[in-house]
Amino acid sequence: METHNILVVGTPGVGKSAITIRFVLNRFVTDYDPTIEDSYEKEIVLDENKCRLDILDTAGCDEFSCMQGITYREGDGFLIVYSITNRRSFDLVTHFLHEICHINYLKEEEVPMIIVGNKCDLEIEREVSYQEGQDLARLKHCTFIETSALTNQNVEEVFYAIARETKQIKCYC
Ligand code: GDP
Ligand code: MG
Repeated sequence: METHNILVVGTPGVGKSAITIRFVLNRFVTDYDPTIEDSYEKEIVLDENKCRLDILDTAGCDEFSCMQGITYREGDGFLIVYSITNRRSFDLVTHFLHEICHINYLKEEEVPMIIVGNKCDLEIEREVSYQEGQDLARLKHCTFIETSALTNQNVEEVFYAIARETKQIKCYC
């Protein structure tokens, strides 16, 4: 079966584990250890074809660690997650994006990447507007989606979208 390796990246606390676990197990976790890096498998049906997603929920250091380069090379598609309640996590999206492209010797438009603004249920704590997320994604040739792992808003959509983009890029190669 066709398998796509999806990497979930972003600064600690933005909800990488929460959206991954929501998608794979349909549960919301509040106390997931921020230092744990875990991988998950899920079969999905994409345009009538079964495929497997191997999802790596990355963890650890703030920003990007020295070891992350190795991990980035293993990804076919990337979810770059920030929290809409944390401006700094948004500012660092660009760094993740550049690092992923640089390590894979690819241009932004050649890498399947989705910018994910998580915690959109926390509207009263919002620090980053929807427009800002959308503008950044346009600039960087990425798709943009806001999600909530808590309410399950757009979580499935994000994973299906990255699977679809990954599959398309592989077909071109
Ligand atoms: P990670 O370090 O990026 O893996 O972040 P976690 O998934 O561990 O989430 C960090 C904290 O944010 C936890 O307390 C989660 O319960 C909370 N969280 C994650 N996603 C959401 C969300 O969509 N909405 C709300 N309200 N809280 C969330
Ligand atoms: Mg985590």
